[in-house]
Amino acid sequence: MLSRLSSEELASLYDESREKMPSDERERWLNQRLAEQMQFAYKNAPAIKEKLDKVGVSPSEIRTVKDLEKVPVTTKGELIRLQQANPPFGGFLAVPVSSLTRIYVSPGPIYDAWGEERVKNTVRGFLRSGWPKPGDIVLVSTAYHMVPAGLFLTDVLDAMGCTVVPAGIGQSELQVKLLHDLKATAICSFPSFTMTILKKAEEMGYDIRRDFNLRYTTGGGERHIQILRKIFEEDYGLTVGDGYGTADLGEVAYDCGRGEGYHYDDEAGVIEIVDPDTGKQVGPHQVGEVVVTLFSDVYPLVRFGSGDLASYTDEPCPCGRTAPRITSILGMVGEHIRVKGMFVHQKELDEAMSKFPEVSKYQMVLRLEDHRDRICLNLEVESGVDRQALSEAINKRCQEVFKLRMDNIEFMAKGTLPEDYQKFVDTRWG
Ligand SMILES: [Zn+2]
Repeated sequence: MLSRLSSEELASLYDESREKMPSDERERWLNQRLAEQMQFAYKNAPAIKEKLDKVGVSPSEIRTVKDLEKVPVTTKGELIRLQQANPPFGGFLAVPVSSLTRIYVSPGPIYDAWGEERVKNTVRGFLRSGWPKPGDIVLVSTAYHMVPAGLFLTDVLDAMGCTVVPAGIGQSELQVKLLHDLKATAICSFPSFTMTILKKAEEMGYDIRRDFNLRYTTGGGERHIQILRKIFEEDYGLTVGDGYGTADLGEVAYDCGRGEGYHYDDEAGVIEIVDPDTGKQVGPHQVGEVVVTLFSDVYPLVRFGSGDLASYTDEPCPCGRTAPRITSILGMVGEHIRVKGMFVHQKELDEAMSKFPEVSKYQMVLRLEDHRDRICLNLEVESGVDRQALSEAINKRCQEVFKLRMDNIEFMAKGTLPEDYQKFVDTRWG
């Protein structure tokens, strides 16, 4: 864990003027840092050396962001395979395991190596939005097990000098009481759960602006944040701090407060939006995969494919920052989806369903209802199965394999789903 940062250290982490440097200067700075990072990653992470050697590219050939196109994208599936072949980190770790501050586990399973630099990247995000401040009391209302949500945010808030209430998830009535009695100024949670807490408080007769000290909430991890952001800001007077990141990468892009996309965080790494088939960078407003090369001396992933489809703009932002912005996340590439803040891989769904031979086809459909993710599972089954017993068994199995319950299971007659049906259908971006 990172110790509490002094005010000088906090100030050194966030330099707004650097985020506003002219585009050509920014480009030179980024290219130089990338060139140094490639040398470091090649020397210290065996998987990166192998990856470059395999395509005959020397790290000294990567001098600009454009040069990264010479290096193949590492997909999430590949990372899982490499980690399983060579556990725990598949050759991507550049330091001894004992020097890591945390090892998190994401569904897959994927082992995520987290060091102090990730804490610092997220501290910078909080400093940018001005909340929370040192001395604030903050409810951390996210899961604390395995995934880098609750414990990681606690590390960040500790480093900033906040007082943390490790509230976890669920028990919304108790969360309301904590918020009220402890006069908490911030909730760090997934926005749909923050909304559940606020609605519960109103049900209990509270007026958020009058009866609470709440000023700030976080927006990460969910894709319908822009709808909720408006409600948080307009109805409850909250500042919303939002960023883009994944468990593999940490936070790599941020909302400057305007709700108009996520600026690339040049301190965290290099972001490219690339054609998932060719690995070539696409132009502004074209759809591609978010691919990230981390500036990391711990876990230096190079051209890691996040699996998120997005587009970007390099038009000037009214905030004056010059880094391009991811304008929107449009869905997922390939074999996995992100729902309720968690990843589900198709192979996990396949594994869960392999126990049920009476199900001939299955399809997971994601919807948005009242600003919350809803998971429906469509099943084609033999006639005469006990639907209730099967539903219960499937839910239990899904929870074992990927930690999520279905909100709804629908049974279909055999032959309803077409031959070329998709196992994941995501209607949340429609
Ligand atoms: Zn901006």
